[in-house]
Amino acid sequence: MNTLLSTASSTSSYPQEFDAIIIGSGIGGLVTATQLAVKKAKVLVLESYLIPGGSSGYFDRAGYHFDVGASMIFGFGQEGTTNLLTRALAAVGQSIETIPDPVQVHYHLPDNLELKVHRDYENFLQELINKFPQEEKGIRKFYGECWKVFNCLNSMELLSLEELGYLTRVFFQNPLACLGLARYLPQNVGDVARKWIRDPQLLKFIDMECYIWSVVPAEQTPMINAGMVFADRHYGGINYPKGGVGTIAQKLAEGLEQAGGKIEYKAKVAEIILEGDRAVGVKLVSGQEYRAKRIISNATRWDTFEKLLPAAAMPKAEKQWQKRYQKSPSFLSVHLGVAAEVLPPGTECHHVLLEDWASMEKSEGTIFVSIPTLLDPSLAPVGHHIIHTFTPSWVEEWQNLSPAEYDDRKEFAAGRMIDRLEKLFPGLDQGLDFMEVGTPRSHRRFLGREDGTYGPIPRKKLLGLLGMPFNRTAIPGLYCVGDSTFPGQGLNAVAFSGFACAHRVAVDLGF
Ligand SMILES: Cc1cc2nc3c(=O)[nH]c(=O)nc-3n(C[C@H](O)[C@H](O)[C@H](O)COP(=O)(O)OP(=O)(O)OC[C@H]3O[C@@H](n4cnc5c(N)ncnc54)[C@H](O)[C@@H]3O)c2cc1C
Repeated sequence: MNTLLSTASSTSSYPQEFDAIIIGSGIGGLVTATQLAVKKAKVLVLESYLIPGGSSGYFDRAGYHFDVGASMIFGFGQEGTTNLLTRALAAVGQSIETIPDPVQVHYHLPDNLELKVHRDYENFLQELINKFPQEEKGIRKFYGECWKVFNCLNSMELLSLEELGYLTRVFFQNPLACLGLARYLPQNVGDVARKWIRDPQLLKFIDMECYIWSVVPAEQTPMINAGMVFADRHYGGINYPKGGVGTIAQKLAEGLEQAGGKIEYKAKVAEIILEGDRAVGVKLVSGQEYRAKRIISNATRWDTFEKLLPAAAMPKAEKQWQKRYQKSPSFLSVHLGVAAEVLPPGTECHHVLLEDWASMEKSEGTIFVSIPTLLDPSLAPVGHHIIHTFTPSWVEEWQNLSPAEYDDRKEFAAGRMIDRLEKLFPGLDQGLDFMEVGTPRSHRRFLGREDGTYGPIPRKKLLGLLGMPFNRTAIPGLYCVGDSTFPGQGLNAVAFSGFACAHRVAVDLGF
């Protein structure tokens, strides 16, 4: 009770008790918050950093406006139901001008396998079939199955799968789509691909098609996620938000406040307050406490259950989950400002480079590249481009170093990436104007993610997405949202998780 009084007196415009407190303003947290706010719930978002967005935030240096992480954006289509970013913004009266990307990714793979995934589906298929003419039927069948998954998803409202009323309604509205999805839920891409495709190099290509967003090969990548990615890139397409990826979170935060919700920055939650076994509030590192009927964590599950709660409160279900899923690696991220001449004519926005199939999953194996200034030149000074390049890296490689050793290691590692990228952008080193290097330690520090992880990955082959938890947790009153809940990583995926979480919480609160 004292807590309530102190909260009310120090921030007098705040209600004594919120309906929901959301820890973190990643896209998962913001979509949950906005969806609840439009239902008139009293919502408070607490964000430890200075701006919203987490992994989809931004930073400014030397005239360049860099995306922290994500820049290949799904979910901005205009039709169907899977355009969740468009929908989340519209729900709070916001919209963003987007720039369509004609090519999702340009692959530069071993054995001279050069290939572009065109927005136009038939163009993409033709390019792939030209490389593997003997596999034409298999290619069409495999990607055709991915479309089946997508068409099911795209014909139903995407809300909480742990809410029986919704499940019943959606089943009666669209029984065939539901049955179709149920069939694919326990399946992985590898099994479906091998059903149709024999060529080992083509199967490796499918591995890479999965790895670039799931960070595991096809064998461990759920079909539900693949259906979204492999079809939506040709349906709603990849669209870059004008002004940078950070505008998504900024607009959601703006919409949240207009809808009556509150957001506090520099508000790092130190612990989730339990009364008995129930989550009833949070305590910030500043000592400030807030109470709410429901607590929603947008931090990773490891941060939520290992740092914000006492060890004794770790539910058995979480221990089981940790046996099935592990932390993916983090990234070594190199943010470059370069002279425009470095980019050969016709360069695409997104690239993936790998020289040896055996290194695909290794540290510094696959290199990812995004050049958002090809779509929105306003993000860099005139005559310059941004090249954001990143590659998997584990936090252990960056521990126990003196500051000088840490700096040296960053410089050498960035140098190795730049050398490899000279193959795509001859003269890159000469054309450098600016460079900032982020390591797994930076991801851990600035994004508040344990070991800087990109998210959970299966420890071994699982039954598709069946093992991924939904939003409720075993602790009454506590929910999770974001990439460590169904359906996983990626902006559109965590937006799905946000819609589902808000729906579940709203039903539980009687809104
Ligand atoms: C390098 C990189 C490239 C990527 N590329 C793409 C891409 O091209 N396309 C794509 O769709 N996805 C991409 N992703 C993945 C995507 O960015 C993430 O899956 C997604 O943004 C995760 O959102 P989230 O809401 O789960 O959490 P996060 O973005 O991690 O946000 C969580 C928020 O919670 C805050 N927080 C954590 N703990 C606390 C606490 N104790 N108190 C208060 N606040 C706290 C954090 O500061 C953060 O703001 C990329 C990710 C990275 C790292």
